[in-house]
Amino acid sequence: MRAIILLGAPGAGKGTAAERVCAGTPFRHFSTGDMLREAVKQGTPVGRVSETYMQRGELVPDQIMMEVVEARIAQDPPDAAYLFDGFPRTVRQAELLEAVLVRRQGCLEHVLFLDAPREVLLQRLGGRRICRACGANFHMVNMPPREAGRCDACGGALYQRPDDQESTVLSRLDVFSRKTEALIAHYETLGLLRRIDAGGNAERLVADVMRVLAAA
Ligand code: AMP
Repeated sequence: MRAIILLGAPGAGKGTAAERVCAGTPFRHFSTGDMLREAVKQGTPVGRVSETYMQRGELVPDQIMMEVVEARIAQDPPDAAYLFDGFPRTVRQAELLEAVLVRRQGCLEHVLFLDAPREVLLQRLGGRRICRACGANFHMVNMPPREAGRCDACGGALYQRPDDQESTVLSRLDVFSRKTEALIAHYETLGLLRRIDAGGNAERLVADVMRVLAAA
C-alpha cells in the first residue's frame, strides 16, 4: 500500500488538487467526505450516525471513520496507492492509519499541507456549488457556470452543500484549528510535511502540488 496525504482546512482545494493529481496515475482519490456523503444519501447505518455530526460541522468519531476507511481499503489489492483527501483529521486517525500501513507493509510517501488564508477559505466555501448529477465543482464568482444553476459538463442542477452554509463553515474552520492543526506538528516531527501556498487559483495549486511530488 502506498499513501499520500493532503492536509488543509475546508476550502483549501484538497478535492480539486486530488482529482487532478490522481488523473492518469495509479493513485486513487480517497475522499472520506465523499464516502460519508454517499453513505448519508444511501441511508446506511454509518450514514445515519454521521449525518448529525456533518450537519453541525463536527468530526465523525475516529472509531466510525476507521471502520469506513478499513472497509474500503480491504476491497483493494494490497499494493493499491491512495491519495487521502480529508483523512486523517485527528492525531488518533493518523496513528491508526500508520498501523494500517504497517500491517499492509505500506509506506506514507508524502504529506502536503495546503495552506490558505482564512478570508480566502470563507470566500471559496460560501460561493461553492456542486452538480447533483456528476459532482463537478463550480464557484459563483471564481468559476461560475455558463448557465445559472446548471452544470457545464452534464446540465445537472447545482446545489450548495448544507455544510457550506455560513454558520456551519465557521464551526468547520474552528474544528480544523482545534483538531486537525495538531496533525501538522505530528507530520513535521516525522519529517514528512511539505507546505504549499493554496491561496491562489486552482491551476497554480495543481502545478505546485505536482512539482513538489515530482521533486520529492
Ligand atoms: P469534507 O468533504 O472532507 O469537508 O468532509 C465533510 C464532513 O465529513 C466533515 O465536516 C466531517 O463532518 C466529516 N468527515 C470527513 N472526513 C472525516 C474524517 N477523516 N474524520 C471525521 N470526520 C470526517
